[in-house]
Amino acid sequence: MFHPAYLKFVADRFRAWPEDPARTFTHAVLGLRTEWDEFLNADSPENEKEEVGDFLFYCAALYPLAEITHEWEPTSSEMEQADIHDFHRNLEALTDMAKKWLAYSKQPTPLEIRNHLIPVMTHIAWMEDLRLPSTIEANRAKLARRYPNGFSTQAAIARADKEPGQ
Ligand SMILES: [Mg+2]
Repeated sequence: MFHPAYLKFVADRFRAWPEDPARTFTHAVLGLRTEWDEFLNADSPENEKEEVGDFLFYCAALYPLAEITHEWEPTSSEMEQADIHDFHRNLEALTDMAKKWLAYSKQPTPLEIRNHLIPVMTHIAWMEDLRLPSTIEANRAKLARRYPNGFSTQAAIARADKEPGQ
């Protein structure tokens, strides 16, 4: 679903803690939850597209922990079967995993992460349909403005791609 260059781009801009995968995983899962809320509250089609792009960024950020390779693509029958209830169930499962990993050191396997992440992404792929490549590209372009040289806390706070007050 993601081009290898986009996955590398995300890996350079997603704040991760290699020594603390529970924290890294929780960061990505909270990202999914907050971006989905932003999508639900979006006030224009452009804004919706931006928030779906942000959501996809956190999906891509989870690829290493889920051990998904860039070749993975949802099939058309998987997309047809994906429904919003499944999407929510799987998003909840990822959130529950994050809580248990962070609080009780109960580490999920990459397969367990993958089994919940894939239905989430399949639903987004169905939802976005032919717009998917341009949604991902718009996210890449936004983050290239915000983080021209990769992730930095300063750039995250300054958000060079936004006008003051936005
Ligand atoms: Mg957002």
